[in-house]
Amino acid sequence: MREDLKIENIYCVGRNFEGHAKELGNKVPKSPLIFQKSSSAVNTKDIIKIPKNQIIEHELEIVVLIGKDGSPKTRNEANSFISGYSIGLDLTDRRLQTDLKKKGLPWFAAKSFKGSAVFNSNFIKHECPKEFYLKINQEIRQEGNLKDMIFSFESILLHISNIVDLKKGDIIFTGTPEGVGPLASGDQIEIGFKDHPSKKLIVI
Ligand code: ZN
Repeated sequence: MREDLKIENIYCVGRNFEGHAKELGNKVPKSPLIFQKSSSAVNTKDIIKIPKNQIIEHELEIVVLIGKDGSPKTRNEANSFISGYSIGLDLTDRRLQTDLKKKGLPWFAAKSFKGSAVFNSNFIKHECPKEFYLKINQEIRQEGNLKDMIFSFESILLHISNIVDLKKGDIIFTGTPEGVGPLASGDQIEIGFKDHPSKKLIVI
């Protein structure tokens, strides 16, 4: 990871694409559904280690980097808090998450296991590219487009800022499009924005 990049909080948005909410049998939310991963779950390496006896699913997401401390009050101000855009995988132990959901318990163990916050630490500044993808073994498995997001980056930031102050170094996983599925040992992963340098990883 870049030495000048110290990750603080990791926020994630659930159900921000209609197609994904539906594929898991969930309703589209009226306000952003936010959960967190531990900052020690950060994985910017090129290896994904699947914990023993777990089925881990990929969720392809745009990751937003926060560039200053505070709480924006307007959409324009919220936009000025974003210092970069990247692509990541919100890795999820789906079986455990489904079980926790049924029991009405927090998703922590299903979402915040070691190495579960995968992202490319080369953030793009200025405007966020619109189209992003995940390839597994050279085959497209997930594709997303900014226009299909239910809640914009600015709405997400304003929503989080109503609860806590943002911090420089916070990152936000902004939700996955449809097509989530399990990873297998030996899979070759490629994630990126269309027409931009991608990141490659191997699953072990
Ligand atoms: Zn996710």
